[in-house]
Amino acid sequence: MKTVVFLFLLLNFFTVSAQNTPSDSDVDPLDQLISDLVESSKKAQKQEKKQEKPAVKPQKTEKKQEVKQKKANGKKLVVIDPGHGGKDPGTISGKLYEKDVVLRLAKKIEKLSKNYKNIEVKLTRDKDIFLALEERAVIANKMNGDFFISLHANSFKDKEVGGMELYHLDNTRDEYANKLAKVENKISGNSTILETILVDMDISYYVGDSLDYAKEMGEGLKKDLKKYGVKIRGYNKGALFYVLVGARMPSLLFEIGYITNKIEKELLQKDEYLESIAKSLLDSISKSKVK
Ligand SMILES: [Zn+2]
Repeated sequence: MKTVVFLFLLLNFFTVSAQNTPSDSDVDPLDQLISDLVESSKKAQKQEKKQEKPAVKPQKTEKKQEVKQKKANGKKLVVIDPGHGGKDPGTISGKLYEKDVVLRLAKKIEKLSKNYKNIEVKLTRDKDIFLALEERAVIANKMNGDFFISLHANSFKDKEVGGMELYHLDNTRDEYANKLAKVENKISGNSTILETILVDMDISYYVGDSLDYAKEMGEGLKKDLKKYGVKIRGYNKGALFYVLVGARMPSLLFEIGYITNKIEKELLQKDEYLESIAKSLLDSISKSKVK
């Protein structure tokens, strides 16, 4: 019951926030969201006490039907989300900004997808604009996506560290994954509220499919990028990636490489390399066992 109210309010908030054009106001969208969620949570608790009759919990079979309907046109709609944008550059190494690298890759994926009969690709942003974290999954839901991938690039003080990582949404205790989630979530301190939300939400529904995609894409990248010597560091880790919360479809956060690593920084600026990544991803999605 509590879960349903929470989920409902959360999605409701997402919908409302998506209708507002992002602005450069002083209010941090994340702070705004958290304060709204806290308010919602208080209201939900009050309502729960008042209401005798519990709301009907949405059945998983309903979700399944929804998925089947999406498949009617025979194409899998993949929503690619180039992370950051506009006033939020993401991680920076010299003149290279994360927001630009991921946008370039996203556009390549979209362009190359025309060669695949069973895939359609849409982007959450196709230019250098700011999108709040919580808007991205909402956009993907509105597009009726079947698979959501948020693209990011990593950085580390040790310039030797490099490689790719694929993450799904989970309330895991993996220390590194959680640290990274805090960076991507822009939360430096306490994330108790987010954790509470996620523990409360039914996030397990799409985890299986997300993991299958991650495995297929990870194996594909390992094979296809061998000639570049880029490591695939992992694809079975989960963390509280805020951008993935609320996506009603399998979803992954893809860290495409370390822009602080000299070799990868160079590679990530090459069309040929970005095209290899794009093709590898599309090949894996096209052949995926996830329906
Ligand atoms: Zn990022």
